[in-house]
Amino acid sequence: MRETEIKIECAVLRRVSVPMREPFRISNGVVHEKESIIVELHSDSFIGYGEASPMSGSFYSVETPETTWQALTQGLVPDILTRTIQNPVEYANVLDAYIKEPFARAGIEGAVWDLTAKKLGTSLNELFRAPKGRIASGLAIGIYDSIDKLLAAIARYLPDGYQRLKIKIAPGWDIEPLTAVRKRFGNIPLMVDANAAYNLREHREILRSLDAFDLMMIEQPLAAGALSDMAELASLLRTPLCADESADSLTALEEIIRLKAASIINIKVQRVGGLWNAKRMHDRAHQTGLQCWLGTMPELGIASTQALSLATLPGFVYPTDIEASSRWFVDDIIRPLIQISNDGFIVSDDSSPMPFSVDRQKLKRYTIETKEFRA
Ligand SMILES: [Mg+2]
Repeated sequence: MRETEIKIECAVLRRVSVPMREPFRISNGVVHEKESIIVELHSDSFIGYGEASPMSGSFYSVETPETTWQALTQGLVPDILTRTIQNPVEYANVLDAYIKEPFARAGIEGAVWDLTAKKLGTSLNELFRAPKGRIASGLAIGIYDSIDKLLAAIARYLPDGYQRLKIKIAPGWDIEPLTAVRKRFGNIPLMVDANAAYNLREHREILRSLDAFDLMMIEQPLAAGALSDMAELASLLRTPLCADESADSLTALEEIIRLKAASIINIKVQRVGGLWNAKRMHDRAHQTGLQCWLGTMPELGIASTQALSLATLPGFVYPTDIEASSRWFVDDIIRPLIQISNDGFIVSDDSSPMPFSVDRQKLKRYTIETKEFRA
């Protein structure tokens, strides 16, 4: 890792709220607005940006925008102002002290990576030694009140070119929507995500029947900690299992590998506590033959584009969940917005090392709270 000494002179935290185009509903809750905390670190004349992006409400994780704001304002930001950072990896190791705050960590570490890349005049891709390449994107669709609404939502977005479809399932919303989707959309690459909504004792037969739908994978069918049951389920099914909520750390990944609880890992930069942890989990999974793909909360553009800088690493073999900015949000705070090509790839401009810049006007427009810190 190339080094550049970084001393932060000033940090600004902004809580932003961007309305969502449609509510995002999964098996255990619903959100209407995308809240994020944007971390701004100033050093010399450079500004590094990061994004901490927990989901509002506490149904996805115990961390919320409120708890993450508190962790940043009371812990991580005062701490970073006392440090001289030699390189982002060293700083990522410092962040291991904040193991219970993955989203806050991801936000501040993202800003340090961004600052480092800007000071060195390079890109995050180069810092991570990720090869150049196109990144396939997949469409994710939430839970709807009716099959008709589900089919209409898929029909609205699928023509944008996405390379696979993922639908959310839950007990009582599984066989019927899957049958309808297969009937209407035929043999498209299709997967399901249960967000931990099933348990093996009660739902063994229904889970076994999912094999009939020729799915790419079943994502997180069981509770995050139910790894032995996941391993048993994996042995009952032809369809591969993917760990998402279960794969929240390197330690958890080792346990998944040991128990053979999943053969695919959804790596979310936010949930695993930052870009470096995500990279390390990718490397370890790839080394042991597990396949990976890059997931999203979804985040706004800063965290999304930073996460995409990992997406060409060789273990990421399935399409990412990162979609066009306009898929979920009425607007975003980066320029250009993330777009998908007609054939389902993230549009990228290879002529510039920085894949995005922050639109300061929009950043201010969507800010609902600001806090500034000086060294
Ligand atoms: Mg998931």
